[in-house]
Amino acid sequence: MKKDPVCKMEVEETDAVTTEYDGETYYFCSTGCRDLFLDDKGSNPPDEPPDLIIIGGGPAGLTAAVYASTLKMNAFLITADLGGQAIDSTKIRNYMGYDFVTGPELIDKFKYQLIHSHYIKHLMCEVETIEAVDGGYRVTTADFKRYSARALIVATGMTRRRLNVPGEDEFQRKGLFYGNIQDFAFVHGKEVAVVGGGNSALQMVENLHGVASSIHLICDSRLTADPAIIENTSRFGNVRTHEGYKVVDFSGEASLSAIRIRKKGGEDIERLPVEGVFVAIGFRANSSLVSSFVKLNKRGEIMINHDCSSSRPGIFAAGDVTDAFGKRIIIASGEGAKAAMAARQYLSNMKRTAP
Ligand SMILES: Cc1cc2nc3c(=O)[nH]c(=O)nc-3n(C[C@H](O)[C@H](O)[C@H](O)COP(=O)(O)OP(=O)(O)OC[C@H]3O[C@@H](n4cnc5c(N)ncnc54)[C@H](O)[C@@H]3O)c2cc1C
Repeated sequence: MKKDPVCKMEVEETDAVTTEYDGETYYFCSTGCRDLFLDDKGSNPPDEPPDLIIIGGGPAGLTAAVYASTLKMNAFLITADLGGQAIDSTKIRNYMGYDFVTGPELIDKFKYQLIHSHYIKHLMCEVETIEAVDGGYRVTTADFKRYSARALIVATGMTRRRLNVPGEDEFQRKGLFYGNIQDFAFVHGKEVAVVGGGNSALQMVENLHGVASSIHLICDSRLTADPAIIENTSRFGNVRTHEGYKVVDFSGEASLSAIRIRKKGGEDIERLPVEGVFVAIGFRANSSLVSSFVKLNKRGEIMINHDCSSSRPGIFAAGDVTDAFGKRIIIASGEGAKAAMAARQYLSNMKRTAP
């Protein structure tokens, strides 16, 4: 793998766009990044600052970026990764145009569309802070670079919640996982548990039932996943469901060997001799970057209007980080498209009313 010197994206040597400069070969994700590199080496004057910065490269941010490009906006995408949570989805059956697609396959298509068909400038980096400045907002990244824009689209999605019980830190990756398919190799032929009752937990059960010898599905309420996936997993003979149970702790020596659970409202504790536990108990909204500017609901999600505008002029938000109903790829993508269109409207109104 090589690193694109412009956007810092990891690129395959064989697929990359290359250029020779000063006797060295450089590798780029796209012709767009190569052109920016060559413009810079030719000492062209720097481009004017972007009108719009999009933060987050999941389905919402990537769609916002493609729309911004289609709408000929001067936009810049900054993201810690490409794909967001969708990369972890092993079986997507609810995205239009596909009967079945995996998360990595779908994100490859999104990525191709962004960097080859609808290029906008992009940078692979975490945004650490956002400040209000005259005429807009200033974004500071983890590599201490600062970028200003008149409007922002926050599409930072969600990250996994933890159980916060004894042993959770100690057995991280020593039997305790948060659900990447690569981790399944550790539990081949073993007794395991999946904690959670939503779509991601049940997808894990679907993926594990041919790998693990038996699965305990532990959920502190009733299962909340889509009925179709609940029905499918209920047919598996090696799954025992513990509805209404809480996890008490994790234990073991060098690696995990047991989990203890307790029925809610009761005192009896049951010990399950599992060598692997996959935790999928939901997510929290990554809204802290703008929590001092915009209104959040009780779940910490950014409250948005129908056009994805927030309570603060110039800050738009899209996807799972918002209070929009439905945490789904297709919904996040649709909201990303809407946010880009609304940001364009906002920016052109600003230009029209500027003194
Ligand atoms: C295991 C699993 C299976 C799923 N299966 C399905 C399914 O089958 N069908 C379906 O429709 N949905 C599914 N989902 C839900 C779906 O993936 C999400 O609804 C969707 O990805 C939300 O998109 P998003 O762009 O809003 O946020 P995310 O996908 O969370 O993306 C957020 C992006 O923001 C970036 N980011 C966050 N903070 C910063 C920062 N400070 N600086 C820079 N970048 C930042 C992240 O790196 C990421 O790129 C699944 C989710 C999981 C976890």
